[in-house]
Amino acid sequence: MVNKTIIVSNRLPVKIVESNGEYLLSPSEGGLATGLGSVYKKGDNIWMGWPGIDVPEERQQEVTEKLAELNLIPVFLSPEEINLYYEGFSNEVLWPVFHYMVTYANFEQTYWDFYQIVNQKFKHTVIEHLNEGDTVWVHDYQLLLLPGLIREEQSHVTIGFFQHIPFPSYEIFRLIPWREDLVEGMFGADLLGFHTFDDVRHFLSAASRLTNAKISDNVVTFKERQIVVESFPMGIDEAKFESLVTEQAVVEQIASLKETMQDRKIVLTIDRLDYSKGILQRLQAYELLLQKHPEYIDDLSLYMIVVPSRDTVPQYKELRDQIDQLVGNINATYRTLNWLPVHYFYRSFPIEFLSALYATADVCLVTPMRDGMNLVSKEYVATRIDNTGVLILSEMAGASKELNDALIVNPNNIGDVMRAIVQALNMPVEEQITRMSVMRGIVKKFDIHLWVKNFMDKLEEVKQLQESLL
Ligand code: UDP
Repeated sequence: MVNKTIIVSNRLPVKIVESNGEYLLSPSEGGLATGLGSVYKKGDNIWMGWPGIDVPEERQQEVTEKLAELNLIPVFLSPEEINLYYEGFSNEVLWPVFHYMVTYANFEQTYWDFYQIVNQKFKHTVIEHLNEGDTVWVHDYQLLLLPGLIREEQSHVTIGFFQHIPFPSYEIFRLIPWREDLVEGMFGADLLGFHTFDDVRHFLSAASRLTNAKISDNVVTFKERQIVVESFPMGIDEAKFESLVTEQAVVEQIASLKETMQDRKIVLTIDRLDYSKGILQRLQAYELLLQKHPEYIDDLSLYMIVVPSRDTVPQYKELRDQIDQLVGNINATYRTLNWLPVHYFYRSFPIEFLSALYATADVCLVTPMRDGMNLVSKEYVATRIDNTGVLILSEMAGASKELNDALIVNPNNIGDVMRAIVQALNMPVEEQITRMSVMRGIVKKFDIHLWVKNFMDKLEEVKQLQESLL
């Protein structure tokens, strides 16, 4: 039998909708799905995860068969499981703590109970399909216990784990009541990957303080197994963004945006609605700019796209109300008959429109309070094929470790962000080109395909090394 690779993540890379009693599937075109496409679409390889909707038991077989045609295996979850494991433990405990927003965390025992139950459920599905010699690649913070659970059943299996969000400093991580179980769950992997070296450092520090593991450089020895911990900064599908911007529909969209804006400059921001993204602070910096530099009134506009997310959760709804209010205030205070300071959209857009916005924006303002990587910053860079434009980037985003030629800011320093906007608006074209071409080179070279390859190659190397030590 040929060895296969099993990818596991909370969500499958597919959207399922029910229409006239029939389930319709549309595969996701996100960057990660594209990158991992080179893995799960090949041979016997598969991708496992929650299909994204509640499927009644009597119709699960039908959905399973449809998904199988795309090499996808479902893990069906009940509304209660989604509520307590995903919205509860994942998004109300791990998400806020890992993003250093501990006051938003809600350490509920039932959340933890369901996190364990659902990780077990994922384990059962993995074990059902796992043969000797297979490789499992587990993704992200919803499944921290899964590597350990699989390892208990199959001690020799090859397991990789990648975390897409930050790993916090030990002083923050230790606040979680179930911290040892989480770290030991992760120890089930052979290779643990994070976006940045700082995340690696934080994980190793937590591991050494919370467990009796031995740590030497980036290798953890736990229960006589060696686990390698390393950074793999994730890239984007660069080729796609580079070519999108020359497509006819996008070119027309760019022309229409330019006509609407006339000679005004555009500052662009794109985020999911989330308290980690620093949206309010960014609006404050923009307001400060209009206050301190009235010469920019009628000369530039902020295009702000906020993609709806988790807005049934009270904290997110509150954030949305605060954004609405602040945008309303800024527009009411500074607008003129023909000019609006903030063009605010609370919705998502097709990638073609995003491409046109990236191509039109003179400045892209990316100022999260904390972000594992931040792909918007890389997408902006990849789109700037003439090498103009200025990226302002938070030092708290993983991407800032690679994109050193951005204007790097502390997102909490409103004055500094405002000064960076002024600097960006006045940056000579030659300097824009110098900075942007270096960043484009990085985004092009370290794309999503190289990221997948580097991780898989390293996982194989680690496993061979382990076996040679046996
Ligand atoms: N995005 C999208 N539709 C939109 C706006 C954004 O698909 O209307 C995409 C964007 O292209 C990017 C992703 O959402 O790939 C956001 O990724 P990022 O790492 O910046 O933040 P995350 O939401 O993962 O925290």
